[in-house]
Amino acid sequence: MDLNIFDRMESEVRGYIRSFPVIFSKAQGSTLFDQTGREYIDFFAGAGTLNYGHNNPKLKEKLIEYIHSDGVVHGLDMATEAKKHFMETFERVLLKPRGMNYKLQFTGPTGTNAVEAALKLARLVKGRENVVSFTHGFHGVSGGSLATTANSKFRDAAGVGLDNTTFIPYCGYMGDNIDTIEYFERLLEDPSSGLDQPAAVIVETVQGEGGVNVATKRWLLSLEKLCRKYDMLLIVDDIQVGCGRTGSFFSFDKYGISPDIVTLSKSLSGYGLPMSLVLMKPELDIWAPGSHSGTFRGNNLAFVTAAEALDTYWTNDQFEQEIAKKSEMIRKSLDNIVYNYPNEGLSVRGRGMIQGLVAPADSDDLANEIAHKAFEHGLVIETSGANDEVLKLLPALTISEEQLQKGLEIIERSVAEVYKGRGVSARVLKFGGKRG
Ligand code: PLP
Repeated sequence: MDLNIFDRMESEVRGYIRSFPVIFSKAQGSTLFDQTGREYIDFFAGAGTLNYGHNNPKLKEKLIEYIHSDGVVHGLDMATEAKKHFMETFERVLLKPRGMNYKLQFTGPTGTNAVEAALKLARLVKGRENVVSFTHGFHGVSGGSLATTANSKFRDAAGVGLDNTTFIPYCGYMGDNIDTIEYFERLLEDPSSGLDQPAAVIVETVQGEGGVNVATKRWLLSLEKLCRKYDMLLIVDDIQVGCGRTGSFFSFDKYGISPDIVTLSKSLSGYGLPMSLVLMKPELDIWAPGSHSGTFRGNNLAFVTAAEALDTYWTNDQFEQEIAKKSEMIRKSLDNIVYNYPNEGLSVRGRGMIQGLVAPADSDDLANEIAHKAFEHGLVIETSGANDEVLKLLPALTISEEQLQKGLEIIERSVAEVYKGRGVSARVLKFGGKRG
């Protein structure tokens, strides 16, 4: 495939094309097709943007219908029928059944736009500058959000100081026996700790980019309690692991916490169309009209598909049950790999349909090698974590069990081949998620 023009014209900043050096031309469900017609199973789903698969037929139908009817496409933040329908659906399908009360702020279309708005609002409400973020957190790469993103790869590119953020160890960062919330509380209660009183805490319930690190329910409940005690707003960034990724629409649904602010993006439109949202408790809505703006806050095509996605998948618990079943399949397959290589220091972590196969720190780029091998076998999959040490499985939630199984078998085979190349053999070599 001739990638010459990408090498010649596109900036060196390009990233994923380097992991998947082919030209993609079509996509349907969980299958990508390259220019030659070769098929790939997609376990990346646009970094969590395609939870309902590529070109989801139900959403596509609504979209085409809307375009044919000359529905408004670009609307700034003017009132449109599509936006009205989206808000009514969001309230009926998500907020009302959960007894949630939030106001909606439509921001610019990408995730980082929602995070910028959330941080700005929190600082405005509390009249303080400092915000707490967590080790390995990822919240975007524009000024304010980048300051809350931990990875030096991104921070080093900022070119300016990234201030007004204090990083606290995430759940499990210091090992299972150290409660990092206790450490955080110690800093808050000590007037001489050096910690400036934060306006807010921003947290992912599962850190997607940071290496599929999972916060426990207990840790999140303690964090919320701390926020209440020390007058800090709790912002949950559900951009990557919201919209059903962990098994329910909001990643914190089953945790009994009530964030002050929630950011959503990625799979919100359901179709890969850019759209972001900030949910805020009504009393926090102290914005002056127009004081935070953006030309692309009104992507009406995204409103149409977002509303349809909610109506199609989230009006009862059938979809949640399907996700639970597929999560189990993924977990079993990964556990099987760990079982097959007992001396290699592998482990598995994740929640729902975001799961990671974790290689030890000294494994010499094992996860990337497995991802490359899997791509050779027709599977699109990425790595995450501070040193790319986690093979991150992020298939569409709508993937068929059959296709999921095929993808999992490619991973198992790729692991086996990579280890074989390194002279490591398996205890029991069985594909298909079954132990010997
Ligand atoms: N927040 C989280 C948790 C994310 O995972 C991401 C992107 O991966 C962002 C924010 C930034 O979103 P975007 O890349 O659309 O700006």
